[in-house]
Amino acid sequence: ICWSVRGGWHRPRVQPYGPLSLDPAAAVLHYGQEIFEGIKAYRHADGSIHTFRPRQNALRLQRSARRLALPELPVEYFIESLKALIAVDGSWVPSGEDQSLYFRPFMFAKEAFLGVRPANKVGYYVIASPVGAYFTGGAKPVSIWLSEDYARAGKGGTGAAKTGGNYASSLLPQAEAYEQGCDQVVFLDPDRNVEELGGMNIVFVYKDGSIVTPQSDSILEGITRDSILQLAADRGHKVSGRAVSIDEWRQGVASGDIVEVFACGTAAVVAPIGVLKGRDFFDEQPLGPLALSLREELTDIQYGRREDRHNWLVRLDAD
Ligand code: PMP
Repeated sequence: ICWSVRGGWHRPRVQPYGPLSLDPAAAVLHYGQEIFEGIKAYRHADGSIHTFRPRQNALRLQRSARRLALPELPVEYFIESLKALIAVDGSWVPSGEDQSLYFRPFMFAKEAFLGVRPANKVGYYVIASPVGAYFTGGAKPVSIWLSEDYARAGKGGTGAAKTGGNYASSLLPQAEAYEQGCDQVVFLDPDRNVEELGGMNIVFVYKDGSIVTPQSDSILEGITRDSILQLAADRGHKVSGRAVSIDEWRQGVASGDIVEVFACGTAAVVAPIGVLKGRDFFDEQPLGPLALSLREELTDIQYGRREDRHNWLVRLDAD
């Protein structure tokens, strides 16, 4: 589906998947004026199709748009764009354990102009693709490489926006993580506080049951993290966001003060962290039951197996 804007959003159209034609001078190709989202549709046992907290993705897309000097797409257009694709063919949404339809809404500057200024001609598109389970046979612990040489985001930069440039800067450290035999990379801020992984937020569980997640202006505010923390708060856990230094993480694990560390995001939902590896250390991480139990609760809600008491689901195949 695509929408274009030039002094107002024009009527959307759904078109067959295929290459886009772009002017070689299109601003996005030179200056990276681009933002995106990731959100899924889930098929319930009765066949109905639902998405999860789309308003939050729409609002995050608006925040990203403001930072990248792009126009803000109205929330209702965002939700309509997902519904329009389901209306074409609902059978795209697979059924089965941990299967879903992944939507990739994105917006970019199409204007052909080589000067550095915000573009006036912009397109908003959504592509949809069925995806299988991120893990087969239940969530497996992931290993994390501590990136010392590279930052994902700088103060006042675009870290809190979902824009391609942040991912471009994480490709090399991610490749380094693979070379080190790790699945993911964790980034620190200039004060050596933990930020997030390349595509997931991070959460620490303490011995007293309290839960802490890194908070700063340069972390992408994950919708999975927010949901998981709400479910944990419902169970009586004390939940907070604050700076967590890498020393606090390592010492907390060594002393037994931190009893679980996990990552979370739309793709994997929740992934326990099994190992933290750095240039000169290899710290095994304590695995506990909370990450997996919160993962189960959240996926049960998404797939309609448990009551949606926060009204997080939005039906896509009916009004
Ligand atoms: N951080 C980054 C850098 C990400 O790319 C993602 C995935 N969107 C997340 C965190 C998790 O966000 P969400 O839970 O909304 O998928």
